[in-house]
Amino acid sequence: MYFGSVRFFKHLILTVTALLIIVPTVICIILAVDNNKKAAEIDRLNSRLSSQSEDISSSATESSDSSKGESTVGNTTKAEPSVTESVKPETSAASETVTTAAKTTKAPETTSAPESVPDSSVDTDKSYTSLYPDLYADKYDGEYEDSKNTVYLTFDDGPSVLTENLLYYLHQENVKATFFVVPERTEYCYSLLKEISDAGHTIGVHSASHDYEKIYASVDAFLADFKEAYDIVLEATGKAPDIYRFPGGSVNDYNADTRDDIIAEMDRRGFTYFDWNVDSNDWQGYGWTTLYTNVLADAQEFSTPVILFHNTGDRDNTVLVIEDIIQALKDKGYKFGSLSHKTEPIQFQ
Ligand SMILES: [Zn+2]
Repeated sequence: MYFGSVRFFKHLILTVTALLIIVPTVICIILAVDNNKKAAEIDRLNSRLSSQSEDISSSATESSDSSKGESTVGNTTKAEPSVTESVKPETSAASETVTTAAKTTKAPETTSAPESVPDSSVDTDKSYTSLYPDLYADKYDGEYEDSKNTVYLTFDDGPSVLTENLLYYLHQENVKATFFVVPERTEYCYSLLKEISDAGHTIGVHSASHDYEKIYASVDAFLADFKEAYDIVLEATGKAPDIYRFPGGSVNDYNADTRDDIIAEMDRRGFTYFDWNVDSNDWQGYGWTTLYTNVLADAQEFSTPVILFHNTGDRDNTVLVIEDIIQALKDKGYKFGSLSHKTEPIQFQ
């Protein structure tokens, strides 16, 4: 009798032990191979980045020579982007934090009720309507496109050294997104803007200076800043942007007095602005797990989630988590789209 014999139990124990050891070992090996693949991919991206950084440094040195005359006059207001900014694309994020911290403890780009800040420079006449006669967009009067079950990924404050990594993952997932940019007059920025545009993503204007106090001081000031960013995008991509996003969102602590006039004027000129309904809060420096969990939980509350991310040089976790967020939302049945003036705008009230 084999069953129930001592030999049977010996074999049984041996088989179970073998399974307990062999199965986990095989799983470990598969995971290790997958991890190695990912590590190799990150290494490849990093080496591409470092070679580009060298290119920027050399072009920055050149532009430093040519702009020396202007920047050493001792005037703090700059006519052109400074060299330090061209080398460090994350400056825009830093300035967002700095200007906000100086004024109030409120975090950047959140949606609180406006505080009324007395401002003597509010426009009473509307002479700004005659400024920049070419700064108009073709206003879309047709029906909005069907945005049901569509996710709009939006990336503010770029481009930066992380833009190409982000484009790589969006390409892997065959997803188009929207970039609200803070562009600079550098060769490097021009090439990134062109790459974004050539990959089929939408570029919208965010700001040239991202300096809240400056741009929201008056309609004239807003238009001047907008025009600067608009021109750079147009020169770099050959496409005139027709959508934009307000730094800090359309309702913020700095534009209580000028908000309505700015929106009316931009609307008159045919431009559409987009706020967001899901904030990844990636500017807070969250890790992979928090970003993934929060974004997924919030996005599923909307049929049309417009998700705010940032693409500054210090938002590497956003790049690392984006592919998994996209896959998870695809699994939930969402499609992906890039914003345009045919999309029904999400705007704070
Ligand atoms: Zn911003």
